[in-house]
Amino acid sequence: MALNVLVTGGAGFIGSHTTVALQQAGYQVVVLDNLCNSSLAVLQRIEQITGIAPGFVQADIRDQHALEAVFQAHKISAVIHFAGLKAVGESTQKPLDYYDNNVNGSVQLLLAMQQAKIKTFIFSSSATVYGDPQELPITEQHPRSVTNPYGHTKLVVEDILESIYKAETGWRIARLRYFNPVGAHPSALIGESPQGVPNNLMPYVAQVAMGQRSTLQIFGNDYDTPDGTGVRDYIHVMDLAQGHVAALHYCQQQEQDLLTVNLGTGQGYSVLDMVRTFEEVSQAKVDYEIVARRAGDIAACWADTTLAKQKLGWQASKNIKTMCEDAWRWQLAMTP
Ligand code: NAD
Ligand code: UDP
Repeated sequence: MALNVLVTGGAGFIGSHTTVALQQAGYQVVVLDNLCNSSLAVLQRIEQITGIAPGFVQADIRDQHALEAVFQAHKISAVIHFAGLKAVGESTQKPLDYYDNNVNGSVQLLLAMQQAKIKTFIFSSSATVYGDPQELPITEQHPRSVTNPYGHTKLVVEDILESIYKAETGWRIARLRYFNPVGAHPSALIGESPQGVPNNLMPYVAQVAMGQRSTLQIFGNDYDTPDGTGVRDYIHVMDLAQGHVAALHYCQQQEQDLLTVNLGTGQGYSVLDMVRTFEEVSQAKVDYEIVARRAGDIAACWADTTLAKQKLGWQASKNIKTMCEDAWRWQLAMTP
């Protein structure tokens, strides 16, 4: 019989792609999302892709009654927890919103799981917990340090999960540290829909290529990197989604475990690499200007992916060309 998985934040960017991957792997998915950064249309799009409508509950993860009701109505075996706020800049202006949604929200969710005796939990952490890397590639043993409230919420939830794991037997927990998720489902039915001016590179580049914004500002070309611009480990969101399916399989095979694993490709690309590849696939010009470094940015960051291969039997398969092609197709589909 198909296992039921609760996906919090399942209408969002990574959650929607993971819901597709889970359904295609034979899981039944119930999405819980308050739609603060997504829309109902995403659920219809998921159904268009997979032919299966995921269950949907519009609720906040901080709402204990709603969580209890979900766990009573569905026999949930595992929870994949994406719901939360994610804008680094905003987190410095509204730290309490971030601690409330991301830390308190996770605590409320875990309390409801404890009550319902559900002990399989997959958490969206981030490579931001590594701070400014002391060495590359970054292994999971790299010391953690954070410089903003968003990053701190990830670090605190990671620690809460470790405390729960130590306190109670039977928990199967995966803390997944994502590098830079980009791209979209190849159908162009779901993707990333940033509200307002995008903070992240890829959606910004896509909007410049589309003519919706005039110029990309490149934040610094004086880093100690091959071309001076920042280097990141971009990972296709469908690869990332498959990483969650692999993590769920892994958890199901353990009596108990606390796994912490990087999800990246292991390869770094510069801002200029991304701009050039995007121009090539879109056949559109991406005008840019070099401006000052963005406060808090690091020079370079990419993952050591050995542990993911070893423990999950998973590795990313899509290259930056495919990432740009899928992001471009999504950009074209989104533009009226
Ligand atoms: P997203 O904003 O697209 O998705 C988050 C979803 O959660 C949205 O649909 C939103 O409506 C929902 N949500 C937010 N707060 C909620 C709450 N209190 N109750 C219920 N629903 C709520 O973001 P995403 O890019 O898909 O990120 C998913 C997770 O991955 C987040 O936890 C994020 O911090 C983490 N992450 C993202 C990135 C990235 O670059 N996108 C990198 C590392 C980690
Ligand atoms: N970047 C840029 N201009 C932008 C957005 C991002 O030059 O408008 C650069 C940024 O300095 C970094 C890279 O692109 O080197 C990736 O930035 P993003 O915000 O997407 O991810 P993060 O910094 O969180 O890794």
